[in-house]
Amino acid sequence: MRDDVAIVGAGPAGAWAAFCLAQRGARVSLFDPSHPREKACGGGVTGRALALVGDAVAADAFPRTVVRAARFVATERPRTAADAGALHGAADATVPLEDGALVVASRAAFDAALVDAAVRAGARLVSARVTDVAIDARSAALETTGGRFTADVVVGADGANSLVRRRVATPFRRDQLSIATGFYARGATSREIVIELTGDPPGYIWSFPRPDHLAIGICAQADAGIGAAALRARTRTWIDRAGVVPRAALAPYSWPIPSLAARDYETLPLAGPRWALAGDAAGLVDPITREGIFFALLSAGALAEALAHGRGWTPYVERIREEVATELARAARVKAGFFRPAFLGLLLRALDESAAVRSVVADLIAGRQDYATLKWRLVKTLEVGLAWRALTA
Ligand SMILES: Cc1cc2nc3c(=O)[nH]c(=O)nc-3n(C[C@H](O)[C@H](O)[C@H](O)COP(=O)(O)OP(=O)(O)OC[C@H]3O[C@@H](n4cnc5c(N)ncnc54)[C@H](O)[C@@H]3O)c2cc1C
Repeated sequence: MRDDVAIVGAGPAGAWAAFCLAQRGARVSLFDPSHPREKACGGGVTGRALALVGDAVAADAFPRTVVRAARFVATERPRTAADAGALHGAADATVPLEDGALVVASRAAFDAALVDAAVRAGARLVSARVTDVAIDARSAALETTGGRFTADVVVGADGANSLVRRRVATPFRRDQLSIATGFYARGATSREIVIELTGDPPGYIWSFPRPDHLAIGICAQADAGIGAAALRARTRTWIDRAGVVPRAALAPYSWPIPSLAARDYETLPLAGPRWALAGDAAGLVDPITREGIFFALLSAGALAEALAHGRGWTPYVERIREEVATELARAARVKAGFFRPAFLGLLLRALDESAAVRSVVADLIAGRQDYATLKWRLVKTLEVGLAWRALTA
């Protein structure tokens, strides 16, 4: 039987697209051989991401840690005398988070809850890997490890290494990816996330508490001149120095994250005849925070709505360009300044001293602070130089 929509990948983007389409009466097949599975991820799900799926995924559908605070630490030694000067006086600071700002979950559990919702809504889960996709004027044909399938359209929700993207557009270049790597620390948990902002490479080290383990990691742009092994070694050292987990069994992980430059958002390959891309496959991740789950869910819902209204992909493409690409391009523009030691020193000192700055950062973590108004909130809370350096570097 031919499907209306074939979706490749049952992560948040694919599962949520399947749910939204099946609920509207579409015949949907969702291809993914990996479940049940963990996916390399912090597992931080912001309040705005939870709100998108709240009607379909009950609060008790997956175990989660409700995060109460973000603790910013400064344990790393500055590399140069200039950096040491910039970071001088930076102390640890704790930012309280409101209920519902951020939860952390295992991706095995979170993604399974979304897939269950899609199947309950009527989508068919096909446990097969898609090995090829061919699109012509009449249909989209999928070769899979479970046989050949056809559909009116194919949705590529198959992540950063997307096969669908490779068939309908071009794969991400190395400079468009981050390497994210670290460890799961079993048998430990917490009610706070721990973050160390780093200038070299620009990014941060994190510890995110799931209910029965911590996801600890670091990310760096793939062309930053530091590889996964060196990054993971740095995380190992940090675990000891920051004291986030004294003794635990550490299981390593690594995975790429799309992290685009501002100009890349002008030419996102989002959709074409009989195909669309969503989530990581489309490159929709915040290049500063690396939050991707919210954008995966948002893009999935938007493409389902466009299809259901029968007006082609135009509403989808326009919505993503207006609501998402513009915002992520802003993030990409301020990214270089954000991780510069001069800014990090100011920010860490301000986090310690100013409740207003703690409130801005709490909103950034919860996904409530957009980059369009970040500058003006900082201007109102701190010396103008802080905002200026962050946003115009
Ligand atoms: C280390 C790390 C930490 C992160 N931390 C966070 C965080 O804390 N919060 C946050 O919001 N984001 C985080 N992200 C980003 C987030 O993980 C992604 O943005 C998000 O998972 C994207 O969802 P997706 O559905 O687009 O893709 P994915 O979650 O990658 O799902 C893709 C699915 O496609 C399947 N697939 C792939 N190829 C095929 C094929 N050929 N056939 C069939 N199936 C296929 C895979 O098995 C997978 O299930 C992190 C990423 C990394 C790497």
